[in-house]
Amino acid sequence: MSLSISDVTVRYGDTAAVDHVSLDLAAGEVLAVLGPSGCGKSTLLRAVAGLEPLSAGAIAWDGTDLGGTPTHKRGFALMFQDGQLFSHLTVARNVAYALRLRRTPSARVASRVRELLALVGLEGYDDRLPGTLSGGERQRVALARALAVEPRLILLDEPLSALDATLRERLAGDLRSILQAAGTTALLVTHDHEEAFALADRLAVMRAGRVVQAGAIDEVWRAPVDEETALFLGYARIVREDAAARVLAAAGMASSYPSGAAVALRRSALVVDPDGSLHGRVESARVTPEQVRLVVSVDSVGSVDAVAPLGSRVSPGDEVALRVDVTRLAALPIAQAT
Ligand code: ADP
Repeated sequence: MSLSISDVTVRYGDTAAVDHVSLDLAAGEVLAVLGPSGCGKSTLLRAVAGLEPLSAGAIAWDGTDLGGTPTHKRGFALMFQDGQLFSHLTVARNVAYALRLRRTPSARVASRVRELLALVGLEGYDDRLPGTLSGGERQRVALARALAVEPRLILLDEPLSALDATLRERLAGDLRSILQAAGTTALLVTHDHEEAFALADRLAVMRAGRVVQAGAIDEVWRAPVDEETALFLGYARIVREDAAARVLAAAGMASSYPSGAAVALRRSALVVDPDGSLHGRVESARVTPEQVRLVVSVDSVGSVDAVAPLGSRVSPGDEVALRVDVTRLAALPIAQAT
C-alpha cells in the first residue's frame, strides 16, 4: 500500500470540512473521490498535499507519517482544473520547469521533455505558447508538467471539468492510459461521476465531510448504499415500497429482496417491449440520436423514465408494455429509521 489516510479530520473553526475520513490507495491505482460541491473533497486533496493542517488523524506514505513533511518534500504533484500553465513560457519550458528548478542537466531535461510530450501526444509542440493551444492541449501540457519529476503520487482536482463534453470524453480515455503507462498512483477529486468512471479504478463517495461508500467502481455502481448516493452516481429515479415491489417482481427479482427495499432506476431501466409485464401510458416522448426517451405513467408504480428503440412509433397517450433491464437498476438497502 502506498497512501494511507487514517481517520483524518480537517476543521475550519467549528465545522469539520473533512470528518474522520479513512482511505487507502495502492501503488499504481487511481482512486476518485466523488462528491457534490462543498463536501470537502478539495480540502482532503489539499491535506494530502500538505497544504492544509490536520485537526486529527494521520496521512502516511508507505507507512511513514507525513505530518512533519512539507508539501515540496512529499514527492507529490498537483494538477488543477485549469492546468495553471505559465503563459509566458513555451510548452517545453512549462514541462521542464520543475526539472530546471532541480538543476537537472540540460541534456537530460531535453530528453525528458521529449519523452513526456510523446507520452501526452504532443510531439512537436515544444515552442508553442499556452495561449495558442486548445483547452485539451493545455491540460495535456499540465499533465506532462506534473509528471516531469516522476511524482510518487499525482493529485488531480477535476482535471477535465473545464473542457467541453466531446473533448472531455476523448481526453479522459487518454489521461487514463497516460497514467497507466507512467505507472503513476493518482488521487482524483471530482463532482462529475462520468469523470470518475472514466479515470478511476476505485471510487469513494463523499458527502458532508464523510466517506459514505468506497469500493471498486462497478461494485459501488451496482450497489449504492442509499438513495442520495444512487442519484449522485447518475441513477435517474428512486421508486419505493409498493412501486419498488412491482418493479422487482417484473424484473423477476422479488424473491431476492425483502419488501420495503427502494429501487434506483437508470433512465433506460425500463424498455418498451410487447412482452413486458408492466403496463402504462406514455406521458412524453423525445427522440435522441440513440433511442426514444419516454416518461411513462405505470400502473401502481407512477411516472418513470423508459426507452424505446429508434424508429418506434410511440406518442403521448399510447398504452405500452415495459420490460425491466435488470442491469440498469439497483435495489437499495432498507433505510434505518433514525
Ligand atoms: P469541495 O471541494 O467538495 O467543493 P471544499 O473542500 O472546498 O469542498 O470545502 C468543504 C467545506 O469547507 C465547505 O463548506 C467550504 O466552504 C469550507 N471551506 C473550504 N476552505 C475553507 C477555508 N479556507 N476556510 C473556511 N472554510 C473553508
